Amino acid sequence: MISRTDVEDLVLQVCGPVLLPGDEGFAEEVSGFNLAAVHRPDVVVGADDAGDVITAVEWAAAHHEPVGVQATGHGADQPMDGGMLITTRRMQELEIDVPRRRARIGAGVRWRKVVDAIAPHGLAVLNGSSTHAGAVGYTLGGGLPVLGRVFGFAADWVRGLDVVTPDGRLRSVDAVHEPELFGLLLGGKGNLGIVTSMTLELVPLQGLYGGGIFYPGEDAQEVLGAFSRWAPELPACATTSVSLRWMPHDPAVDERLNHQLLVHLRFCWVGDPGEGARVLEPMRELSHPLLDTVGPMDYRDIDRVHLDATQPGLYVLTGEFLQDFDAAAIAVLLQLAGPGSGSPLPEVGIRLMGGAFSRPSAVADAVSGRDSAFFLELIGWLAPHVAERTPPALAAVLQGLAPWSTGRAFVNMHGVPGDEEERSRAWSREVYERLVRAKAVYDPENLLRFQHVVGQRR
Ligand SMILES: Cc1cc2nc3c(=O)[nH]c(=O)nc-3n(C[C@H](O)[C@H](O)[C@H](O)COP(=O)(O)OP(=O)(O)OC[C@H]3O[C@@H](n4cnc5c(N)ncnc54)[C@H](O)[C@@H]3O)c2cc1C
Repeated sequence: MISRTDVEDLVLQVCGPVLLPGDEGFAEEVSGFNLAAVHRPDVVVGADDAGDVITAVEWAAAHHEPVGVQATGHGADQPMDGGMLITTRRMQELEIDVPRRRARIGAGVRWRKVVDAIAPHGLAVLNGSSTHAGAVGYTLGGGLPVLGRVFGFAADWVRGLDVVTPDGRLRSVDAVHEPELFGLLLGGKGNLGIVTSMTLELVPLQGLYGGGIFYPGEDAQEVLGAFSRWAPELPACATTSVSLRWMPHDPAVDERLNHQLLVHLRFCWVGDPGEGARVLEPMRELSHPLLDTVGPMDYRDIDRVHLDATQPGLYVLTGEFLQDFDAAAIAVLLQLAGPGSGSPLPEVGIRLMGGAFSRPSAVADAVSGRDSAFFLELIGWLAPHVAERTPPALAAVLQGLAPWSTGRAFVNMHGVPGDEEERSRAWSREVYERLVRAKAVYDPENLLRFQHVVGQRR
């Protein structure tokens, strides 16, 4: 346990709050989007800037306290118990250089803020399905974007990182300066340091045609079958995914969709909208869509493609890269999670990979999935009434689709992996070994040992 006397010097040195359990504001400071993983650190430091992060890390190292970091809590899969939590939500720096197509983004910034700032200039970032998530945490996990088949992973567009390593040093790393550390931070997530800001190259966006089509659940076989034949033939301008989706009763959602299992096709086309409409036509001719929102789109409305939850909840997000998604895989999926299966899972999705996702990266990074054809994405609720049924249901789908798996998971969506072997599946063997070696160099005391940690010692 850490006492108030222990943190006296820390309180004087940092600008942000230093709170102990029971202090006013402590619960709010540690709270995040995933209510299933509420952190219980012995102390939380609300960092105002990189200086606060350095001071907090130095203090933690001197006191042999393990350190965790949280921006939004979207990726809080495993609650931390004890140690120091550094929250970055106050680190809201955002500098946009339109002529150079660059953005410098503070550790606490959510994608929404970046999207709103750059969209008027015809520029985009490689945000994921929800702009509510934190830009830095998402990108360090590789970042599987809504426009990924056109532009690749979010990590591919990082041009520099400012990172505080466990020795308390603030380093500016990029493809030239400490390239091994830079590469391993991209896809290695929070294993080697706490990133205080990142510099991204922004992508020009000319013409966006996107949205979603909702089909009745009883047509799942027809829609998934058509998707599995149509999607792999798409040009790289199209990014798409499909999910079996239980729509809860939600006044914010169109009432035609409420309270039923549906099939949700998501589609984004970058380029001429007429061409996008032509490409989508075969999927429009299927079944009897309940709602079709695909059309010319303002990039600021990008969250309408996936329609992710925006309210905090108790959930687990996991998945697996697939090498194929064929008729036999569909049969297994429908048996385990389709209409009438009794599955408690609110969402079972298949994202199309390929296109720019398969492009080799410019630096030797730690992003996995470039060799895959699809990504299986699973969401489970952990609310008390389903909490017991969810883990076996997730395991059954993962096991059922194992014959189609590449054997690799994605660190941003790897749920609560157990032992080292399971955790290491988020990377190739070669990348994992590089991460373990780098961890021994940059974090020999294993200070950063919460969440998805590499190596044997947790
Ligand atoms: C609704 C929803 C939609 C999502 N959609 C996608 C998607 O489309 N594509 C995708 O790739 N992922 C997606 N994710 C997963 C998301 O990318 C991860 O949860 C990511 O970790 C979120 O980052 P965060 O900073 O918001 O989360 P936090 O919970 O605040 O952080 C999670 C972890 O990120 C690391 N981290 C955060 N900040 C730092 C930092 N400054 N320095 C070092 N490490 C840090 C730490 O390991 C931390 O434990 C989604 C998640 C949700 C809940």
